[in-house]
Amino acid sequence: MSVIGHRDTIVVGGGVAGCTAGLYAKRYNLDVVVWDKVGPGGLTATATHIENYPGFPEGITGPELAQRVYQQAQNHGVPIELIEATGVEADDDEWLLHTTKGDYLATAIIITAGAHPRSLDVPGEAQLRGAGVSYCATCDGFFFREQTVAVIGGGDTALEEALYLSKLAAKVYLIHRRDELRGQPYLQRRVFDQENIELIWDTVVTEVIGDQQVEALGLQNKKTGEQRRLDLDGVFVSIGYKASTAWLGDLLELDDGFIVADQYMRTSQPGIFAAGDIRNTPLRQIATAVGDASIAAYAAYQYVSQREG
Ligand code: NAP
Repeated sequence: MSVIGHRDTIVVGGGVAGCTAGLYAKRYNLDVVVWDKVGPGGLTATATHIENYPGFPEGITGPELAQRVYQQAQNHGVPIELIEATGVEADDDEWLLHTTKGDYLATAIIITAGAHPRSLDVPGEAQLRGAGVSYCATCDGFFFREQTVAVIGGGDTALEEALYLSKLAAKVYLIHRRDELRGQPYLQRRVFDQENIELIWDTVVTEVIGDQQVEALGLQNKKTGEQRRLDLDGVFVSIGYKASTAWLGDLLELDDGFIVADQYMRTSQPGIFAAGDIRNTPLRQIATAVGDASIAAYAAYQYVSQREG
């Protein structure tokens, strides 16, 4: 396929990290474009209420913060395009990006493609996805008003999803595979204080049961081995994220699927940088994602400048 275009820097992924990288790259006067396969916003747009991003003392909803970051990038003239990158290969001293719309050349690439929710991989889950199985309470919680739901997981996402759902649903079970939660203490306190959230400890889901729609979960207590059925209307799976790196093949060094990058966000390949949830970072937060994205843009600027002499 012939090459459609060339850019100094192509940012792959239009969440808050991608839009921030675009914004900073533009201010470094780079010829930059941001691509996203489904439109800007990323995971931030699915967050319920964000209380730990500085500058919003009353908190802000995920969709509003995502929209503001996107708008800010646009206001600075960053083009944000609906394009899906499907592969990358070296082309002399440039990078050739394969996409669903054709091939593009770039001097530098900043990968901010984020991560996607992990699935339980139990019988019934895939078949009932969208029919009571969900991975996003903000997106689907509305359908379960006054009903009974379960959230699976014990991390920050699971706790936030459970709290959000407790305002809509009549009853929320929080099902965790251990006897202590992983999420931040302030979220744990709120969960314990919420009357319609019931913790089910030491328990894993063995099956999602239902014909056309979720009807129940098969559960197993890991300590006693006891199996039981829990009737409910919906299940929200919040057991962490997998980095969206499949499209990169074995181009970059990964750590448990996440891209290894140094303090300048340099990956194992020259001219390719990574930031946000896709990177092997010790803390996955919006604050760290935008910080790392600004460093990635700075490093890309230095890389492109050196190339141009
Ligand atoms: P996470 O921190 O990796 O937690 C995943 C949870 O799912 C853990 O409790 C884990 O159990 C459980 N789990 C994993 N695989 C499982 C399986 N197969 N079956 C049952 N349970 C399973 O993921 P996360 O909560 O999505 O958070 C991801 C990152 O985003 C974290 O760094 C988090 O701090 C951050 N985050 C922050 C905020 C915030 O600051 N407000 C909000 C959301 C997310 P174990 O505990 O036994 O491992």
